[in-house]
Amino acid sequence: LDKDKADGAANFYEARDRALVEKRLATEADLVRALQNDEFELFYQPQVCLDSKRIIGAEALIRWRHPVRGLVPPIDFIPIANATAVSVGMSRWVVETAWRQASRWAAAGHEIRMGINLSPCQFSDGSLSVQVEALLHAAPIRPDLIEFEVTEDILLDDEVQAKKAIERLKRSGVRLVFDDFGTGFGSLSYLKSFPLHGLKIDRSFVKDALSCESDRTIVRSVISLAEGLDLSVIAEGIEDAATADLLLAMGCREGQGYFFGKPCPADEFERLLMTAAGSIAA
Ligand code: C2E
Ligand code: MG
Ligand code: MG
Ligand code: MG
Repeated sequence: LDKDKADGAANFYEARDRALVEKRLATEADLVRALQNDEFELFYQPQVCLDSKRIIGAEALIRWRHPVRGLVPPIDFIPIANATAVSVGMSRWVVETAWRQASRWAAAGHEIRMGINLSPCQFSDGSLSVQVEALLHAAPIRPDLIEFEVTEDILLDDEVQAKKAIERLKRSGVRLVFDDFGTGFGSLSYLKSFPLHGLKIDRSFVKDALSCESDRTIVRSVISLAEGLDLSVIAEGIEDAATADLLLAMGCREGQGYFFGKPCPADEFERLLMTAAGSIAA
């Protein structure tokens, strides 16, 4: 009887695993097709100077216009993509598309920074710096207007390769920042190991900074850490005016969040740039 039970459980788990694997395979095949059919799109979210409220940058955020599922957010496919080979093509597409957009905006007089999120595969081989060199020729732009956002898992995936990739990218003149700063396990030690240009304070500390004293203390510490190490700092996830004011009062000069604008398609972002010369009337 016990054996029957055990078999039943094993069958249950096998079936469940099979379902998961099938779902994942379906999605991986879907992702390959989506890349071929040009179903990915980049949205852009404004980054502003907290003092003047002027737009100083954009973060490129991928969306999937699925023919049946509609607009799919990155959380539903980036982890799958990163675990499979499709990540290579998708990540190249993201870098190229965001870069060309930044180059066009700069040529039109909007010299704003472009934040581009990286995937682990781009740091584990040397391909990104080769692509960067090619793009510097194909779509000229001041390289320090390109800002690659890396998370801790990308850096810790293969530390030796990551350090090499950082050195090569720095020689090209592009910027590199720590994304979601403070959420990982090794944040402080990787500040020392990986010489990047700046950090983005994670939304989880920013969102309740007004009401939660300990979050406020963490945010204040990260700002002074950045100051002391001569790193740029931007706060993510600012959703109201009071939080924006608080951040500014604590010495953070740049911000990003729904209060200033949600991620939107390129044409909509362009209209934002035109409005009052890129100043957000928030
Ligand atoms: P992230 O790089 O930390 O991007 C910020 C996320 O926070 C975005 O979610 C953005 O829409 C959201 N956000 C910004 N301001 C606010 C706010 O005020 N309130 C709230 N509730 N959310 C805010 P999104 O676009 O869903 O992206 C989620 C994550 O997916 C990104 O986190 C990034 O890790 C990843 N991702 C997005 N696009 C790409 C990409 O092109 N390549 C790679 N490798 N990863 C990407
Ligand atoms: Mg990011
Ligand atoms: Mg982030
Ligand atoms: Mg994040």
